[in-house]
Amino acid sequence: MKGKQYAVIGLGRFGSSLASELVSLGFEVLGIDKDEESVDQMSEKLTHAVVADATDEEVVRSLGLRNFDCAIVAIGDDIQASILAAILLKELGVKMVVAKALSELHGKVLEKIGVDRVIFPERDMGVRVANQLASPNLLDY
Ligand code: ATP
Repeated sequence: MKGKQYAVIGLGRFGSSLASELVSLGFEVLGIDKDEESVDQMSEKLTHAVVADATDEEVVRSLGLRNFDCAIVAIGDDIQASILAAILLKELGVKMVVAKALSELHGKVLEKIGVDRVIFPERDMGVRVANQLASPNLLDY
């Protein structure tokens, strides 16, 4: 049986950690970044890694992303790129699109264009760590 396929767009600290963990969990992961060095660093760890601009419609189409089960937009700083990549993935018909937001407003835009799950890494991690600290017996890391 074919395992789930994930695409991770943006291999910064967040994206590369997420992508490596998905591979450890046994999934197929395609990593995409416009920066060649970031792709080189991850190419051994991921199922596939390609240098591509995720805001280029033709490029995104040619990567066959519509057949993936889930695509995660892990671009943060460049809000325009994050929004364009997310909308292209939604338009292609990717089943589940997840995107990282750097601010509340960025998150609102991502929600409005139909992103299925918006993640606020720092905020979400803060909540998680607080909960872990409140229950020291919880073996969750
Ligand atoms: P992190 O905190 O995860 O390191 P960051 O928010 O500091 O991320 P960003 O500038 O958001 O870093 O970029 C994350 C990655 O996304 C970078 O490696 C960058 O090259 C890549 N990236 C940015 N724009 C695009 C794009 N249009 N297409 C593909 N990759 C992109």
